[in-house]
Amino acid sequence: MKNILNCAPNYYTPFAMLNFNNTKTAFSIKSDRDLKRAFWMYKLISYPILVKFINPMIKIASAIRFPINWIVKPTVYAQFVGGETLQECIPVVEKLKSGSVYSILDYSVEGKEDDADIEAALEETLKAVDFGAKNDNIPFAVFKPTAFAKSKALEVMSTSADPDEESIREGEKFRKRVEKLCERAFQNGIPIMIDAEDSFYQEFIDKIVMEMMGKFNKETVIVYNTYQMYRHDRLERLKQDHQTSLKEGFYLGAKFVRGAYMERERERAKKMEYEDPIQPDKESTDRDYNLALKYTVENIDRIHVFNGTHNEESSMYLTELIKENNLQKDDKRIWSSQLYGMSEHISFNLAAEGYNAVKYVPYGPVKFVLPYLMRRVEENTSVKGQTSRELGLLKEERKRRKL
Ligand SMILES: Cc1cc2nc3c(=O)[nH]c(=O)nc-3n(C[C@H](O)[C@H](O)[C@H](O)COP(=O)(O)OP(=O)(O)OC[C@H]3O[C@@H](n4cnc5c(N)ncnc54)[C@H](O)[C@@H]3O)c2cc1C
Repeated sequence: MKNILNCAPNYYTPFAMLNFNNTKTAFSIKSDRDLKRAFWMYKLISYPILVKFINPMIKIASAIRFPINWIVKPTVYAQFVGGETLQECIPVVEKLKSGSVYSILDYSVEGKEDDADIEAALEETLKAVDFGAKNDNIPFAVFKPTAFAKSKALEVMSTSADPDEESIREGEKFRKRVEKLCERAFQNGIPIMIDAEDSFYQEFIDKIVMEMMGKFNKETVIVYNTYQMYRHDRLERLKQDHQTSLKEGFYLGAKFVRGAYMERERERAKKMEYEDPIQPDKESTDRDYNLALKYTVENIDRIHVFNGTHNEESSMYLTELIKENNLQKDDKRIWSSQLYGMSEHISFNLAAEGYNAVKYVPYGPVKFVLPYLMRRVEENTSVKGQTSRELGLLKEERKRRKL
């Protein structure tokens, strides 16, 4: 097993001292110049009107192959992406580790439909698994399942009781690719996360991931599935999976997120007239999210927990659960994670207090990571939330440093 268990935190402080408003710690690894760039980046994407134009423009420019690297790379790319290759991410990984934060290198290619492209993505992801296993600052590997299957096949296999021959064949190819990745992770002793996707692809993904956990999680957690708690059926699914894992004698790996595709899930459900898979409101999502954290920490002997969120309350709540259950802050069965370039105040303050914090660091050529970048820009507009908090903290730190 990869030696992530020996990565001792820098120092210990009492539970009560955790404070997400500590901007000195939050931005400790950022130079004045980095801070300035982050500030202007967030300022720019805080204008919904601008974001409304940026994303369609980027789409058109990349469709007609208009060169956009010169504008994207020093701006949004530099803020949210680690580099074009694994090797290029190393300075970012080391910089994060200087603030006690670990990295997960995420090859952010999505939605490839052609076998050759899918196989190329598989090769790169296998390389990332090997690469991570050799670096103590990279405790996990990760992949996005939709990168390894044709979307139609995933949809049919997830939603149809009687799938056609072609989808069954494609589904089998997908299963083999996932197995190859999990097996490589297992051989290298590096845990691997499998991201969650739209609900209409997820049933088949879940089935295969459970199969992989059955195969590779006999001694400890190597394979993690992702539970999107904005779905009203996920808390129940988590409990069912826990029961299955007990019955079949394997450990459960549970990564929690709220979920990234709410609008299109709701629209599709409405259009196709089936029950909306999403919770009725944000409060219900938050409630189930925190209940899932509680359930898993209380069953920590059999379930390993990965808290993927920018929500301060859920991040703080996890630290309370750790305390209530008499666990160590740096118990390696429990991790918190934020995306690279976002919510530094959570990652770095958790890490400084001795908790396990890790950043999802996407990497890949500019044209491959564009969909990822557009999602980051969209979710950071002032309408959708996050930006004002990020801007406030950046302003505060600039003031503190008298910039
Ligand atoms: C490390 C990491 C890994 C991730 N991996 C994945 C992944 O594999 N799959 C994936 O889908 N997403 C993933 N995400 C994104 C995640 O699902 C969220 O979109 C994002 O983190 C925002 O949620 P939050 O918990 O950070 O913050 P918050 O701002 O507290 O929550 C916002 C979220 O709440 C939910 N929500 C908002 N309004 C409503 C409403 N009216 N009704 C019901 N729910 C509502 C939505 O999910 C929305 O995204 C990941 C995020 C992180 C940090």
